[in-house]
Amino acid sequence: MEEKETTTKTRTIPLIPLRGLTVFPYMVIHFDVGRERSINALEEAMVYDQLIFLASQKEAEVNAPTLEDIYEVGTIGKIKQMLKLPGDTIRVLVEGISRAKIVEVLQETPYFKVEVEERSYSQEVEMGEETEALMRSVLDTFEEYVDISNKISPEILLTVAEIEMPGRLADTIASNIFIKPLQKQEILEAFDPVERLEVLYKILLEEIQILEIEKKINSRVKKQINKVQKEYYLREQLKAIQKELGEDEGLVEEVAEYKEKLKKLKLPKDIHEKIEREIDRLLRLSPASAETGVIRNYIDWILNLPWKKETKDSLDIKKSADILDEDHYGLKKVKERILEYLAIRQLSKSMKGPILCLVGPPGVGKTSIAKSIARSLNRKFVRMSLGGVRDEAEIRGHRRTYVGAIPGRIISSIRQVGTKNPLFLLDEIDKLASDFRGDPASALLEVLDPEQNHDFTDHFLEAPFNLSKVMFITTANTLDTIPRPLLDRMEVIRIAGYTEEEKLNIAKKYLLPKQIKEHGLTSETLQVSENALIDTINYYTRESGVRNLERQMANLCRKAAKRMVEEEVKLIRIAPNNLKKYLGNPIYRYEMANLKDEVGIVRGLAWTMVGGDTLSIEVTPMQGNGKQVLTGQLGDVMKESARAGISYIRSKVEELKIDPEFHNKKDIHIHIPEGATPKDGPSAGITMATAVISALTEIPVYKDVAMTGEITLRGRVLPVGGIKEKVLAANRAGINKVLLPMDNKRDIEEIPQNVKKKMEFVFVEHMDEVLEHALKRGENNEN
Ligand code: ADP
Repeated sequence: MEEKETTTKTRTIPLIPLRGLTVFPYMVIHFDVGRERSINALEEAMVYDQLIFLASQKEAEVNAPTLEDIYEVGTIGKIKQMLKLPGDTIRVLVEGISRAKIVEVLQETPYFKVEVEERSYSQEVEMGEETEALMRSVLDTFEEYVDISNKISPEILLTVAEIEMPGRLADTIASNIFIKPLQKQEILEAFDPVERLEVLYKILLEEIQILEIEKKINSRVKKQINKVQKEYYLREQLKAIQKELGEDEGLVEEVAEYKEKLKKLKLPKDIHEKIEREIDRLLRLSPASAETGVIRNYIDWILNLPWKKETKDSLDIKKSADILDEDHYGLKKVKERILEYLAIRQLSKSMKGPILCLVGPPGVGKTSIAKSIARSLNRKFVRMSLGGVRDEAEIRGHRRTYVGAIPGRIISSIRQVGTKNPLFLLDEIDKLASDFRGDPASALLEVLDPEQNHDFTDHFLEAPFNLSKVMFITTANTLDTIPRPLLDRMEVIRIAGYTEEEKLNIAKKYLLPKQIKEHGLTSETLQVSENALIDTINYYTRESGVRNLERQMANLCRKAAKRMVEEEVKLIRIAPNNLKKYLGNPIYRYEMANLKDEVGIVRGLAWTMVGGDTLSIEVTPMQGNGKQVLTGQLGDVMKESARAGISYIRSKVEELKIDPEFHNKKDIHIHIPEGATPKDGPSAGITMATAVISALTEIPVYKDVAMTGEITLRGRVLPVGGIKEKVLAANRAGINKVLLPMDNKRDIEEIPQNVKKKMEFVFVEHMDEVLEHALKRGENNEN
């Protein structure tokens, strides 16, 4: 601290208490005086030396203050001018001279007369570095204050900058800023100039902070007001324009409605804002423009998706078991596996983990099982077929820039079902195609992946939708064509085709009662005999499942209902003899066992898209030069099998007593007359070889033998798939002896007992054994 030298001086002086005003030295100010004591004081001062002591009242409201009500420190002022105003008021102009402190009160009436003490400091002239620095800081801060307060004319800065004395600087600034009386008093009471500067500095800093906050608040409020006003103004203008153009006035209301709805959705902030912007765009565009339509469509989609809506799961394995039984006959194993799957779900309380894939021919109840699962879980059900989906956009949607764009089918289905946690059946996942338009399988993978599907982004929506609560189930006819990465995510449950007996039960207990009810009939008005049902199964349908059977049941009911109404009959009984009347002529004639043993015709067993079937292979050798001609439904794999068969025969010409040059002299024509392309081509191997051998050797084949098995070049017989379906098909065709690869022996367990009883199975390892059981070597091969 610097050395301070002070000198004090006392004087007697009249006092005017000031209300809400603080006068500083060097300050020139005018104020009005009205109170009697103050006027008296003024008069006294004028008579004497025009000096007056100006001290502020602690509280401005007090009308007749005592000394208690007045601050002790005030300013001695010199009266420069007086002006009598109408009434008893006098306006005075005073200049602050110096601060002083009351030391004694000499009188209170007719005016206050006090003795005050003035102090002056030597620092007013000499200044240390510290003071200099403080002055600069105060100046800078004041500049900042002027800048943000914008109530003070910046010219004051020029005046202030020229002041060299710290005390004066403080007083000049203090008299020019807008602060509370108490703060002013604080500055006034600081006799020491450096201390005064410090007090001022502190106050300035505080004020700047407050001003900044104030400014922030102001600008925020202003912005809001501006925005509201601007929007209001623009809307009104828009309305006027639209009115002028004769256009939709309801738009504004519509927009408000959209916004209301949007608010209710409580979407994440960024999405919410994005949609809001889109909604606002509606107001800017002409209602008739194409873009308006596009935006409306978009908003409509967003607002109608179940972002938050979900159903509550009911996880009760017993109930699920009951519902599965209620809706489906048989399928014991399938139901068991499904219940296991659900139990695990229930335990782990999550939808993560593999996705169920129900595999089997059409009409075996894959869809209806999925529906039952949904029902038992209390989830909504939605189904989407993937058959022929080859464009990624079908899964993920088109970008909005694309004309006529809509979301992909996943999102569409979710909207349709209306909850975010439905059971979602992806049908025919094996029919998914892929081409240059992108790979739908990989998009689908994302949909099914629990790590990714919580923010599935549809190109159209451009906003992530959470699919993680969805329970996906897929179906397929075959596993062969399911893209590998998809297959890896799935838990496969196979549903094989039904036997005739199972079909009968399903028809009797489920399909027929259902159709009877749907057609407004009862079991008293329509009776269908068991044999009529069996005939329907055999002559009016050919399938592994029961879809067509169900259709035929509906057919029966429709025709019966019609007859009842037309002919007024009360009861209709349907038996095999009158079945034709209702269903028309039989559609299928089972390709039954051949009527006699024939050369070059062998009954194979195939596993096709619709389940198992029998398949006649006919071979005719013709004079030629060793060509193999294959006709009918033949895939490349079948051709391979034919070649393998022929190679085997060539290695056995001697044993088989076949012309060793047959393959050079004869064309071999192989034909498969009917049936769809078997999906397991190689399984026709032994059938084809047998047919060729029979044709070349002219040894007939037993009429009641069917076979399946792959053949190697050396005649070994390899196992094949679909044994259950194939055996059922043979049984249907009335063939009782079936040759099967030895390695398929364990598959026999799957075959229903009643079928197994009727069949004779021969397990073979080599082509020699096949020939032994298939060829009727009698007198024919003696020559
Ligand atoms: P998929 O989806 O396998 O093609 P669906 O589920 O469409 O077959 O089944 C066709 C019809 O057959 C449905 O009406 C279904 O209820 C019925 N159905 C299939 N299997 C059974 C069964 N085991 N018991 C009762 N009805 C069945």
